Amino acid sequence: MLNIVLFGPPGAGKGTQSDKIIKKYNLTHIATGDLFRKHLSEGSSLGKLAQKYMNEGMLVPDKVVIDMVDDKIREDKDAKGFIFDGFPRTVPQAEALDKLLTEKNAPISRMIALEVPEEELKKRIKERGKTSGRADDQDEEKIRTRIKVYLDETLPVARHYEKQGKLAMIDGVGAIDDIFQKICVKIEEAR
Ligand code: AMP
Repeated sequence: MLNIVLFGPPGAGKGTQSDKIIKKYNLTHIATGDLFRKHLSEGSSLGKLAQKYMNEGMLVPDKVVIDMVDDKIREDKDAKGFIFDGFPRTVPQAEALDKLLTEKNAPISRMIALEVPEEELKKRIKERGKTSGRADDQDEEKIRTRIKVYLDETLPVARHYEKQGKLAMIDGVGAIDDIFQKICVKIEEAR
């Protein structure tokens, strides 16, 4: 099983690159932000709970996220592998994911971390906000909060996988296809 964590700050290009990786490697996409937005559009209680945090650019509590991912992994028994996008975002989430995958005897193969400077992130998120319809993409204050939360709470997750020898850093600035080629090299190394 090929299990990839696609890591990086908001606006790093995780969604764009995930789409390409899924097609090439036939993986199941687990994007926690997308899952919360789906719950929100369906008006589920989970969606309503998540909305409070998402609107502020804050993280949804670990237990809520972990239970949702646990369900998704169990749902897809025939998956050839998973790509985790926007998850794990805290060290406890990473520890929980490692535990879930150990049960399946299929640990994380590699973490691909996209590096993009902060000014470029802000520019990209605002640009995306023009078409994404996401409230959290359109407000300067929320964008700042999301980047701060990333630096404070999410960045330590890179260290977690670095200690396991699984971290691969990629320059996330440049042409989409060039970045994708670099990602593929790192994935091939882990297969
Ligand atoms: P994203 O689409 O990945 O930018 O996520 C949008 C929002 O959903 C985040 O700002 C958080 O409020 C919430 N969210 C998504 N994934 C997670 C996660 N792994 N842990 C906590 N909150 C999350």
